[in-house]
Amino acid sequence: MSAPRVDATALVAGSFVEVAVALPLRQTFTYRDPRGAAQLPLGSQVVVPFGSRVVTGFVVGHPAVGTGTVKDILDVADDETLLEPEVLSLCRWAAGYYLSPLGEVLKTALPQGQRASARRGVRLSEEGVRLVAQLPSPGNVPGASGTFKSLAILALDEGDRALLLRLAKGRTLGLRALERNGRVGAPRVERLVREGLLQVGDEVADRQRGPTAQFVLALGDANAVIKKLGRAQLQLALWRKLQTAGAHGERLDQLTLPERAALRGLRARAMARLEMRPLDLAAQAPVQRDVAPPLNEPQQQAFESLTAALDNGFAAFLLQGITGSGKTEVYLRLIAEARRTGRGALVLVPEIALTPQLAARFQARFGDDVAVLHSALPAAERLRAWRRLKAGQVGIALGARSAVFAPVQNLGVVVVDEEHDPSFKQDEGVRYHGRDLALVRAQHAHAVAVMGSATPSLESFHNVQQGKYRCLLLPVRAAPGAASRPLPQVEIIDLRRFRVDADGLLSKPLADAIAATVAAGEQVILFLNRRGFATLVLCRGCGHVLRCPDCDVSMTFHLGLGKVLCHYCGRNERQPNRCPSCQRPALEQLGIGTERVETVVRQRFPTARVARLDRDTAGPTVKASRRGEPGSAQAPQRGLQKILGLMHAREIDILVGTQMVTKGHDFPGVTLVGVLQPDQGMHLPDFRAAERTFQLLEQVAGRAGRADKAGKVLVQTYNPNHPAIKALITHDYDGFATQELAQRQGSVFPPFARLVAVRIDGTDAGLVQKIAGEAADRCRAAGGPTLRILGPAEAPIPRLRGRVRWQVWLSSATRGPLVAAAEVAATTSLSGDVRLAVDVDPQSVL
Ligand code: ADP
Ligand code: ZN
Repeated sequence: MSAPRVDATALVAGSFVEVAVALPLRQTFTYRDPRGAAQLPLGSQVVVPFGSRVVTGFVVGHPAVGTGTVKDILDVADDETLLEPEVLSLCRWAAGYYLSPLGEVLKTALPQGQRASARRGVRLSEEGVRLVAQLPSPGNVPGASGTFKSLAILALDEGDRALLLRLAKGRTLGLRALERNGRVGAPRVERLVREGLLQVGDEVADRQRGPTAQFVLALGDANAVIKKLGRAQLQLALWRKLQTAGAHGERLDQLTLPERAALRGLRARAMARLEMRPLDLAAQAPVQRDVAPPLNEPQQQAFESLTAALDNGFAAFLLQGITGSGKTEVYLRLIAEARRTGRGALVLVPEIALTPQLAARFQARFGDDVAVLHSALPAAERLRAWRRLKAGQVGIALGARSAVFAPVQNLGVVVVDEEHDPSFKQDEGVRYHGRDLALVRAQHAHAVAVMGSATPSLESFHNVQQGKYRCLLLPVRAAPGAASRPLPQVEIIDLRRFRVDADGLLSKPLADAIAATVAAGEQVILFLNRRGFATLVLCRGCGHVLRCPDCDVSMTFHLGLGKVLCHYCGRNERQPNRCPSCQRPALEQLGIGTERVETVVRQRFPTARVARLDRDTAGPTVKASRRGEPGSAQAPQRGLQKILGLMHAREIDILVGTQMVTKGHDFPGVTLVGVLQPDQGMHLPDFRAAERTFQLLEQVAGRAGRADKAGKVLVQTYNPNHPAIKALITHDYDGFATQELAQRQGSVFPPFARLVAVRIDGTDAGLVQKIAGEAADRCRAAGGPTLRILGPAEAPIPRLRGRVRWQVWLSSATRGPLVAAAEVAATTSLSGDVRLAVDVDPQSVL
C-alpha cells in the first residue's frame, strides 16, 4: 500500500515540482507529484516530507528532471492558481532583495498562504473511516476478538490506532500540533498519509476576520413577485424594501419582528436570500456613478504625459501635486484610459481603512471593476476578490501594501498614492516596502508607475534628480470650472513668546481663531500626534515615572479607560493612588494627548460640537492580520466611519485627532487647522525626523481651505526656526527637500547610502548583547572596507514586550558589501530565545 521510493531518473518528465517550503530557508527543493498526470499550477500549496517533519510549501516551478533522491509530495492542500507568473517573479525578486526565504514571501503574498500551516488539518481518508469502523473500541484488548476484517489493522501500532480513533467522527486535528505531539510525531503522520489512511487538507477552520453580519437580498423580478404574493402585504413591503437596497441588501439583525416573519415567507418562495458579509464593507452604501470633471491645465498635461507612456514599456513618474491639486483625478483618468485598451491597474494607498472616501471615488468611477482589498477582509472575501482579479472579471485592485501581489491581469498602470507614507514598509516577517515592490512589479509588467505625493520621500525626490523618475507637477489646487484655489495660509505661534493658557494647551491666537471659525459656521481640525489624556505619570515627591514593566516606555493615562496604558504592548492597569517608589500620594499627570485636548476644548467652547479621531475612538480594534498591515491593527472601524460621516455632514465643529486626521480627507467645511506641539516629532532619534515632521504638517495643513473659503493653519511651537516649520509657512517642499538632501549628502544615510538594520532581541539581556556583538563582528569581517557599521547598540526602545533589543546598522554606498555582511549576520548562531532579523531599507529606527 505504501508508495515505493522510485529512483529519480526513472521518472517521467513533468511530474516534478519545485517547492518553496514555508521554513526560513533560502533554497527551494524538488519533489515528485505521484499523481503524475496534470501539472500542479504554480502557487499550489502542497504538503511535503522535509527531513523528519511534514511541512507545507508552494509550487514555484516545474523542473524537467529531479536530482538525487526525490521524495513524493504527500498531499495537495489546494491547487488553485492564484499566483500570477509575474507575481512569482516579483516574489523571487523580493526574496533576493529582502534576503528572505521564498516560501515566507509567498506566504505573505498569497491569500491562501495567509492561512498559516499551523492550521493545516489532518483527517481520516475514506479508507481511514472504513478502517476505524472496524477497530475495537478503546476498552477492548486489540486483537483479542480475533475477527478483524482487514489486514491493514494488524499493521497499525498502538499509537496509530489511538490517532485514528481521535480522528473518528469526522474530526480534524491541526497538523502542526500533531507533529509536535511526542506521542504522534511527523513520521507517523507521514506514514499514515502514505498508507492512504489520513489526509492533510485545508485549514482546520478558516478564522473569520473582523465582524460579519447576515444580509438579506431580494430575488426575482417585480412583476412575478407582485403576482405571486397577491395580498401578502407584509411580504410585499419587505420585498420592495430589499429590492431598493439592491445588491447591498438589508441587515438581518435590523429587520423588525414582523419583517422577520415575512422573510420566512419570502425565502420559502425563493424571493429572498441570505448572505454573510463583513460588516465594514457592507457599511458602504451602494455608490452613485460619477462623471469625470474636465481636467485643469496641469492635470491635463500630467494626464497626457502618462497616457503617452502607456504602451511604451516601463516608465516611472513622480506626480508631485500639492494637497488638493487633484492627483486622484489624474489616476482615475489614466486608469480609465488603460482600461479602454483592456489593461489592468493596481493602486496602492497607505491605509485603505482610513480613507473610505478614496475607495468610494474609485467605485463611483469604475463600479464593479474595482476590487477593494481591505486588509481586514475575511479570508474568504479576500480569496473571492483574488479569484475575480485572476479571472479578469475585475480589472482594478485597490488596497494597502499587500495588494502589490494581487493578480491583476495585463497590468498597465501601477499607482502608489502618498508614496512617502512610512506604512508602505512592513515591519515584521518579510520586511518589504510596498512602494518599491510596486515599482519592480511595474517594471516586470512593462507598466507605467505613478507615485503621487504632495511631499515625496527624499528617496523619490532624489530619484527625480537622478533622472530615474520623470516628475509631473500639479502646482495649483483644483476647483470646478478649471479655477484654482490657494493653499492655506500658515502662521506660526512662537510658544516662547505666546504663553499657553492654564490648561497648557491653547495660545490666545489659536483660541481666538477657533472661536471665530466656529462662530462663522466653519469647521476646525486640531492635530496632536499623541493619543491618551496624559503622556506621563510622574511622582512630584521623588520623580518616579510610571513605566511599562515589559517595555522601556512610560505609560499613558487614558481618561476614558480610567487606566494607564502602554502604547507598545497594550498592557493596561489602574493608576495607583500612591507612587510605587516612595509611597507618597503625589502622582501627577503630565504631558498632553488628544483626549486631554478634547476635554479642554469642550470646556473652552461649550457650545461647539467636538469629536475626537484617534485609535481609541475609531472603533473596536479588529485584529485582522498577524502581519499588522495598517488599517488592520485598527481596522475599518465603525467609529471611524461615523466620525468621518459626521464631519462631512458638518455635524462636528471641532475635530481633535492624531495623524488619522491628516490622511487625505476632503472636508470642504474645514477652514482652520491648528497644530499643537509638533516639537516631539522633530526630536526623535531618527535621521528622517525632519522629513517626517514636514510631511505630516504639510498633509494636515492640506485639510484646510479645500472648498470655496480660504483656509488657515496655526502652528504652536517652541521651534519656529526648525526647517520643517519654515518650509511649511511657504509650502516650499522643493526648498525643504533640497536643504535636507544637502544635509544628508556625504552621510551614511539614504538616499546617499543604503541601509540594513540587523535587529536582535531576546529575554536575556546579556545574551542579546553578546549575540549582537557577534553579529557585528561577522559583518565587519564580511563587509569589506567600504561598509560602515553603527553599533551594536541598544535600540532607542531598549525593551519591548519583555524582550531586550539591540541593533547593528550597516551602511554602504553600494549594495554588494551590505548583502555580504547581512547574509553572514543572518547566520550568527543564536541561543536561548534570541531572534535576529535582517531589515533591508529600514524605515523605523526604533
Ligand atoms: P489630491 O489627491 O491631490 O489631494 P483630489 O484628487 O482629492 O486631490 O482633489 C481635491 C478635490 O478637487 C476633490 O474634491 C476633487 O473632486 C476636486 N477636483 C479634482 N480635480 C478637479 C477638476 N479638474 N475639476 C473640478 N474638481 C476637481
Ligand atoms: Zn508595554
